[in-house]
Amino acid sequence: MKVSKEILNLVPYKPGKPISETQREFGLSQVFKLASNENPLGSSPMALKAIQAHLKELHYYPDPTHYDLLEKVSSFWKIPKNQLSFGNGSDEIIDLLCRIYCEPGDSILTSEAAFAAYEVSGNASRTQVQKTKLTADYKMDLQAMSQHFFAHPEQKIRLIFIANPNNPTGTYVNKDEVDLFLQKLGNRDDVLVVFDEAYTEFVRAQDYPVAFDLFRKYKNVCVLRTFSKIFGLAGIRVGALVAPVEVIEIFNRVRKPFNVNSLAQIAVIAAMQDYEFIKNSQQLAWSGLDYFYQELKALKLPFIESQGNFVLFDTLRDASKVDQALLRRGIILRPVKNYGFPRHLRMSVGIENENKAAMDALHEVLKEIPIDGKSNHN
Ligand SMILES: *Cc1c(COP(=O)(O)O)cnc(C)c1O
Repeated sequence: MKVSKEILNLVPYKPGKPISETQREFGLSQVFKLASNENPLGSSPMALKAIQAHLKELHYYPDPTHYDLLEKVSSFWKIPKNQLSFGNGSDEIIDLLCRIYCEPGDSILTSEAAFAAYEVSGNASRTQVQKTKLTADYKMDLQAMSQHFFAHPEQKIRLIFIANPNNPTGTYVNKDEVDLFLQKLGNRDDVLVVFDEAYTEFVRAQDYPVAFDLFRKYKNVCVLRTFSKIFGLAGIRVGALVAPVEVIEIFNRVRKPFNVNSLAQIAVIAAMQDYEFIKNSQQLAWSGLDYFYQELKALKLPFIESQGNFVLFDTLRDASKVDQALLRRGIILRPVKNYGFPRHLRMSVGIENENKAAMDALHEVLKEIPIDGKSNHN
């Protein structure tokens, strides 16, 4: 059977290496995984309690209208109900936006080293994926993106994906950059600008623009939020889409009626109200990052200051060698060669003893593997 070239070119998603696999492969009993930006505190206890209580209801189909979830999240975020919907993780929302708004021959636009899901979903819907370069300080270059948009009308760019903060770089675009960008691209009716705010709760930068304030002003701005990160519910799969009424209306027609399962709907409602868990998760990420920065400085390894719950650092060596040596010591980090960083590793913040074990292992490993040249990003 014939398969389109965009589909054939898809590269299978490479997840963080599972703990069990690492244990088997290296004969280890204790393994720490700091590879997938998961919440090291687990899930909100309030969410777990709500899930427990709902287990006897699993023979019913989930509510296809997400009624309670929509009510609660809409009042929490002060977003009108007709401007909000949910997906099976933000992943599904990204995928559906590509399917809804792009036809074969159209394009999506993002940056190099942006979150990989945009490219995968773009390709899977037979859409061309256009990318601009990062700035010298590893940020998405909004100016280059808007220039690209206007320079290439023939590419028919329908969606622009901006991860803010971005994964795996941890960088963000600031308020002035976003304002300027939207002065040029805001309110157009031929392109949607999608801000992916998966890490928004971890941001410490003062000039970070919350896109929740922008979608009211610009009728082509969409915002993605996830319950996978600070809420600790990655396994249950819920993401939110905040968007213009017309976008939500179409999205709700295309999404599967049972895309968000019943436990997930209940869990999110509970997790949103668990302020203590959210606050603890945030504090842990911040203190963990500060600890990482201090240790990386001591090791003289360059790193990119992060607004997420992870940091991208330069090992000054072939990162796959460092990664292998760390795995042998039971530490799983994330290689990012596929994003164009052959010398970098991405390290998620864990709980204190995990962070310390990771840093101790890194200290040892770096002594074994000599520096092999100048720091480089290609
Ligand atoms: C982790 C992450 C998400 C979340 O994806 P889900 O499908 O909701 O789990 C979204 N965007 C970025 C940039 C991420 O890093």
